[in-house]
Amino acid sequence: MDYFRYVDGRLLCEDLQIEELAARHGTPLYIYSRRTIVEHFQRIREAFAGVETLVCYSVKANSNLALLSAMRREGAGFDVVSGGELFRALRAGADPARCVFAGVGKTDEEIEYALERRIFLFNVESWAELENIDRLAAARKTTAQIALRLNPDVDPSTHTYITTGKKENKFGVDLELAVHILDRWKELSAVRLVGIHLHIGSQILKVEPYVDALAKVKGFLAACRARGHALAWIDMGGGFGIFYKDRDARPAREFADAVVPLVKGYGCGLILEPGRFIVGNAGILVTRVLYLKESGKKKFVICDAGMNDLIRPTLYSAYHRIWPVRTEPQVSGPAPDESTWKGPSHVTDVVGPVCESGDFFAKDRSLPPVGRGDLLAVFSAGAYGFSMASNYNSRPRPAELLVSGGEALLATERETYEDLVRRERTN
Ligand SMILES: *Cc1c(COP(=O)(O)O)cnc(C)c1O
Repeated sequence: MDYFRYVDGRLLCEDLQIEELAARHGTPLYIYSRRTIVEHFQRIREAFAGVETLVCYSVKANSNLALLSAMRREGAGFDVVSGGELFRALRAGADPARCVFAGVGKTDEEIEYALERRIFLFNVESWAELENIDRLAAARKTTAQIALRLNPDVDPSTHTYITTGKKENKFGVDLELAVHILDRWKELSAVRLVGIHLHIGSQILKVEPYVDALAKVKGFLAACRARGHALAWIDMGGGFGIFYKDRDARPAREFADAVVPLVKGYGCGLILEPGRFIVGNAGILVTRVLYLKESGKKKFVICDAGMNDLIRPTLYSAYHRIWPVRTEPQVSGPAPDESTWKGPSHVTDVVGPVCESGDFFAKDRSLPPVGRGDLLAVFSAGAYGFSMASNYNSRPRPAELLVSGGEALLATERETYEDLVRRERTN
């Protein structure tokens, strides 16, 4: 579900024409729909209403301040994985008491910053990190609340780069080791164990891995309580998959129906850290066609956005729907795709200007004919799009717009050449 729709062959975001936004703000351009973001957030909240739930939006999916503050106004907490993300969340007005901090490599500076701001919870990924947080908290004469991140060794059947809950991944503590950590807890003085954390991966399209993970930690929960830890929270992480190509994403309710009774049965409240589910389908990348080119049997559409703007196709072999912003006038509703389109089409690669063969958005894609100057929309680009963008090839990063009804907020200005060198010196 999203608010990108064709009306008489022209693509709109909520009430605004994409062509007009692109003419005004230039390309490449990220455009987000606020209504889509808010509805996805509410859908999760409503689905999980059966148990006390803190929804912490995962900042790394899209860390734009305007999006963060929109979510904060809906009551979101924030899941951060760096000091920089905590800074962004706080800058967007986040309540530190609703912020949780994960990551295998928290530096002393990051931990001190989080302690100073009194965040709700550290999701801790090793004994060494736990000792360090204990030391830093003791020095400040404060107590840090901890959820131990467990590695339940389940396979979420997603891309290997976004699988995090298998034994061979660097994340979390395996269950045997976790019990040893409990045995050594008496060596610590400034940390309080209040929960467990289980983020098993991303773009997960099945409920079972969540259920399996919860089943696997039952014994550990009992072991914690037997040792006097008042476990109050289970943080299930994020990972809920969205629709990129096939309509195979599960609704939030299906995850909730499976997870809520188990969490309640464990006598805990629930923390969720959805990222992609909230923003993924709430954003598109708009790019202009620069040139058409043929090489042997191959056809290329060369556009002005590149892998530095959206790296998912080359990093994860990710599929993004792509369609011209202006298409046949009889098209109304969601974007057509190669399987439903009956009109004329060519098989082509959609590529960018970056000097890498990995710089592509689609390979052998069936698209209606396009020409120089036409606009293309790359759909489902709201998550891990701009937040992974770089300046590779010294390309200024795109502008970002947040559309709400008939209004567009310039959430991030387009970078300039001067921005590229602002922190550098010649000699
Ligand atoms: C990346 C991440 C998330 C969000 O994952 P999504 O698939 O975007 O929902 C949540 N929690 C942690 C700890 C993460 O690293």
